[in-house]
Amino acid sequence: MLFPAAIISAALLSIVSAAPQRRAPAQVITSCTVPNTAALTFDDGPWVYAYDVSKSLVAAGAKGTFFLNGDNFECIYSDTNVKRVKYLHDKGHQLASHTWGHRNLTLLNWNQIHDEMWRVEEALIRIAGVQPAFMRPPFGAYNDLVREASGVRGQKIAIWDLDTGDTVGATPAESKARYDQAISQKPATIHSLAHETKWESVSNILPYAIQKLQASGYRLVTLAECLGEQPYQWTQAPGVKDPATWKC
Ligand SMILES: [Zn+2]
Repeated sequence: MLFPAAIISAALLSIVSAAPQRRAPAQVITSCTVPNTAALTFDDGPWVYAYDVSKSLVAAGAKGTFFLNGDNFECIYSDTNVKRVKYLHDKGHQLASHTWGHRNLTLLNWNQIHDEMWRVEEALIRIAGVQPAFMRPPFGAYNDLVREASGVRGQKIAIWDLDTGDTVGATPAESKARYDQAISQKPATIHSLAHETKWESVSNILPYAIQKLQASGYRLVTLAECLGEQPYQWTQAPGVKDPATWKC
């Protein structure tokens, strides 16, 4: 029996349009939601100042969130970086994805975006046994394709609501003033962006921010905690370095 062409093409169309099953784009997080919390986040590591950031936070009873790259300042699989990542995780800080090579994801195609996302996730699973639930795109740059890729990967996109400006020319005095200005507005929460790769951010701005925020009544917690969410999609036992495969 023959079907009229119009019916066949309508049937085909419904199959074709149903086939890709586009996933919901990732939610974009800007601010925390749990009142009186502040999330201090640090991008672009792991790098030499990771220990100093952690020590300042831990000494104040605080936790931070590290958006890590795979191959930015130094390969994440170097012996020194493997130690730093494990250390941060052991101290209770949150590990999150800043993607592999700090590329602008909005200039990449679907497969390239997934490659940038997957390679650092693989590294964090291998080194610390964690599959991050949050991804911060380099430069804060994302588009619909990036949101969709993040959604497929079960992640949320984390931006911020207070930029210290530490990598875009702000002096330490200006970065501190940004904290002062934000706190003076008495927001319920604060979610700040800084970089663990800048010594002034670690040695000068961070101690100031910790003191100011705590004096103003904020609890300094991880991004996941300030949202009332889990930091990781799942966890497993960390791996042991295999020089043949753990490389950039
Ligand atoms: Zn960055």
